[in-house]
Amino acid sequence: MIKIKLAKHAGFCFGVKRAVNLALKTASENKTKKIATLGPLIHNPQVTRELAGKGIIDIANPQKVRSGIVIVCSHGMHPLVLNKLKKKKITIVDATCPFVRKIEKIVKKLKKEDYAIVIIGDQEHPEVKAITGYAGKKVILIESVEAARKLSGLKKIGVVAQTTQSVEKYKLICRELKKKTKHLKIFNTICDATQKRQEEAVCLSREVEKMIVIGGYNSANTKRLAKLCLELGRPTRHIEQAKDLDPAFLKNTNSVGILAGASTPDWIINNVIARIKQTEES
Ligand code: SF4
Repeated sequence: MIKIKLAKHAGFCFGVKRAVNLALKTASENKTKKIATLGPLIHNPQVTRELAGKGIIDIANPQKVRSGIVIVCSHGMHPLVLNKLKKKKITIVDATCPFVRKIEKIVKKLKKEDYAIVIIGDQEHPEVKAITGYAGKKVILIESVEAARKLSGLKKIGVVAQTTQSVEKYKLICRELKKKTKHLKIFNTICDATQKRQEEAVCLSREVEKMIVIGGYNSANTKRLAKLCLELGRPTRHIEQAKDLDPAFLKNTNSVGILAGASTPDWIINNVIARIKQTEES
């Protein structure tokens, strides 16, 4: 029998739970109004499909919003977009995760103090795009140690990270930035949920033969967990739902560890566990 070890911190984090609950409450209290998000509320297609069934529609383009309610997703929103919506008298329901909100505040303060602001993160991620909007002109987005090495001519640097970055990579980049100036302010803005999941990925990978990481293919924190397990040399599959699991992966396997990204609902995790057990029986 395969031993299944499920991570303690698997599935919805605090910020995602909060965003989904806020969206559901908004939908039930405003049945006759148009409710939109600009991009997915959270990075899990199965959950966003469920939300669409309740009338919460993802309208990627803010220009298409003319009335009703817009829910700001857990990753926040660029202030220019937010202001345009407010001018159009759109009702805003803010589901920005408080950890992301904290970064926005730090960045605003650094801007006031005339720091060059280094954001470590994925430039295409909505959270990074939103934070950039608060940073002003002296913002530098980097994703690697090499990019940090190339920086020069900066007198004062303030550093923040996208909440779902790799803790190890963040440390390495900050070590590099310390060589650039004496006036360096480092803020560890990687959120608690991410840190715990990454720690568990390391521990579980050492205890089992194979790893399964469950979460949206568009979820940054899920992708990072899968990458971490692979870097530790553990055969790993990133799947979005139970049907994506190829039974051949678990052939001749005695133990498997399960991780799930911060936007993966419990029912998907339970379905995957059921499928693993089924695979064994067949
Ligand atoms: S992963 Fe962290 S920052 Fe993102 S929603 Fe969850 S708690 Fe908030």
